Amino acid sequence: MKHITSSAREPQAWIAGIIRDFCAGPANTLQDATNERAWDEPLIGFAAGDDRLWQEYKEYVGPAHWTPAEIFAATFPDVRCQPADLSVICWVLPQTAATRRDNRQETTYPAERWARSRIFGEAFNTRLRIHVAETLSAAGHEAVAPHLSPLWARQDSDRFVISSTWSERHAAYAAGLGTFGLCDGLITPAGKAIRVGTVVARVAVDPTLRPYTHHRAYCLFYADGSCGECIGRCPVGALTQAGHDKLKCQAHLDQTRAYVQKQYGFEGYGCGLCQTGVPCESHIPIAGEA
Ligand code: SF4
Ligand code: SF4
Repeated sequence: MKHITSSAREPQAWIAGIIRDFCAGPANTLQDATNERAWDEPLIGFAAGDDRLWQEYKEYVGPAHWTPAEIFAATFPDVRCQPADLSVICWVLPQTAATRRDNRQETTYPAERWARSRIFGEAFNTRLRIHVAETLSAAGHEAVAPHLSPLWARQDSDRFVISSTWSERHAAYAAGLGTFGLCDGLITPAGKAIRVGTVVARVAVDPTLRPYTHHRAYCLFYADGSCGECIGRCPVGALTQAGHDKLKCQAHLDQTRAYVQKQYGFEGYGCGLCQTGVPCESHIPIAGEA
């Protein structure tokens, strides 16, 4: 096995290389007849373990929402370290042009490529989280993927209906990778048709500058009251000017299972109609684009 060591001088480049190399490998597949690539080139960002946002999330989402230091300490109780010794490594996996094109044409159920990316693309994302955590740990930097921790849990929330102990999209926001849209999706420089992954590690990395000051900065609806095109893309009315109805959305996702099985022949689900056919599909939208 190739031995990978960290670079004291450029840990960002070392870690980004681990992520990029894995994405360029054979595991990044939709598992279709031609093993088509599931994801385009990843975007990568880093957040500091002592960023003020972690405490703000805890206060805003609820006390059960972890700071990086909490999930690290729960995973490595014998390792003494301070929040400032930790970094949160985040990546964005953009849907391919072919997957976005297919889903753009749908009005009720997901295109096959989209459903495959939801299942097999996310299985790749799981492998990527494990690979990053194991590679860093092998180089002496204890690391955990919070989303894969046996301690990770969803919970009912008075404020958010459903919340969880760790939100990868909120971590990506902290790592400068994007801001939230009307539909709750993260609008990134590669758009909103994406998935996110994260690892918390005891490694010193310069945090990525956040090029925004507000968590809704990139969404045209919040910026200037225009757009709202994701509202019309939702087949079940889960999106309104008031935001995202998670329960309606979840009910529709559950319903897509039978369709995916019947039409595409595998166990899966998905939707993502509000992530395609909208100005923020593949880039940060600009004023007047809607
Ligand atoms: S489609 Fe328009 S309103 Fe909806 S998230 Fe994107 S920019 Fe915001
Ligand atoms: S994922 Fe589908 S059901 Fe959920 S809000 Fe978007 S369009 Fe609506």
